[in-house]
Amino acid sequence: MIEIKGLHKSFGNHEVLKGIDLKVEKGEVVVILGPSGSGKTTLLRCLNFLEQPDDGEITVGNTRVNCNHVSKKEILEIRRNTAMVFQLYNLFKNKTALENIMEGLVVARKIPREEAEKTSRQILAKVGLSEKWDAYPSQLSGGQQQRVGIARALALNPEAILFDEPTSALDPELVGEVLGVMKKVAREGLTMIVVTHEISFARDIADRVIFIDGGVIVEQGPPAEILFHPREERTKQFLKRML
Ligand code: ADP
Repeated sequence: MIEIKGLHKSFGNHEVLKGIDLKVEKGEVVVILGPSGSGKTTLLRCLNFLEQPDDGEITVGNTRVNCNHVSKKEILEIRRNTAMVFQLYNLFKNKTALENIMEGLVVARKIPREEAEKTSRQILAKVGLSEKWDAYPSQLSGGQQQRVGIARALALNPEAILFDEPTSALDPELVGEVLGVMKKVAREGLTMIVVTHEISFARDIADRVIFIDGGVIVEQGPPAEILFHPREERTKQFLKRML
């Protein structure tokens, strides 16, 4: 489904990703944990070519690219199959919840408006926001805005959704509703890669937890193992600060 081999990325002379190898199966929910600055966001952004990797090979579905000579067409193909949910919801301020979800379908996918609206309304219902279809982002809470952000990603029907700290900008009382929607999506069998500090989400929902530090995967395994019986000292220290 998704395979990353030997992924390297530097900013100037700061090497942020030092050779990441990662395979994610269809329907798998992978949670990436790690200290701030360890390269988690850069990894997600490289996977989606929001950052251009320096070296490595990325496969998403049937598209395999060598990061050294990747074409625009291949990048579009990869983006088509991976939707990103950002920390800050990045919604269009001058569009309603429904229009925000329809936008990608109509503009990028060239789906007729009527059909795009029908799909978007179904997905708004899935994230529990049917009644808010004509609300603008400023009229929604942070949690509701992020649920629209997730709906927008779901509407594109991607092979995988990449979540970049989707709850870290939210007030604590709004985190639960967003995690609830993510749990529901996970149970429906969507492939998800989630960067988060929410240990409870990792414990309850992840099939696999990956701990990253200093641009390398330090260890990975089932949540019960990595969260409660880590082998590596760096993972132990990190979790001690989190729990
Ligand atoms: P994490 O998501 O684990 O907190 P990031 O991937 O955001 O870590 O960042 C890893 C390192 O790369 C940090 O030191 C950060 O400052 C640096 N970095 C990230 N993006 C850029 C950029 N566009 N330009 C320069 N440095 C960057």
